[in-house]
Amino acid sequence: METVSTATTWSRDTVKGEKRDLWSAMKRGFRCRCPRCGEGKMFRAFLKTANNCSKCGLDFTPHRADDLPAYLVIVIVGHIVVPAALWIETNFSPAVWLQLAVYLPLTFILSLALLQPVKGAVVGLQWALRMHGFDENAPGDTPPV
Ligand SMILES: [Zn+2]
Repeated sequence: METVSTATTWSRDTVKGEKRDLWSAMKRGFRCRCPRCGEGKMFRAFLKTANNCSKCGLDFTPHRADDLPAYLVIVIVGHIVVPAALWIETNFSPAVWLQLAVYLPLTFILSLALLQPVKGAVVGLQWALRMHGFDENAPGDTPPV
């Protein structure tokens, strides 16, 4: 006997709710703002997300950024500092102590400066793609009336 499944196949058209603009959500997250309203603060501490948006109430707890922001920051900072160091070494050959005195603090400062915005962008990405608990049925994920 053959059974017919009534479950629908997932596709972008079957996703319920409003369309979420990926780039807008990531830009808002990069500015450390709520990916949905763009006004409420996303973080309550340096890398601790708030539980909810202070403006629209979006629940931030479902995000699973984990180590991705750190990996992305390593890639970004590496692609800035290493080519600059190679270019300067090739063209000017300054003393090693001078290079270390510039590159190490530069790497440290760039990494700290980018960690929070990159984590915000990752949370914005997860919200826009409805990953984890960022879906229509999640509590607190409906816009205020
Ligand atoms: Zn919000």
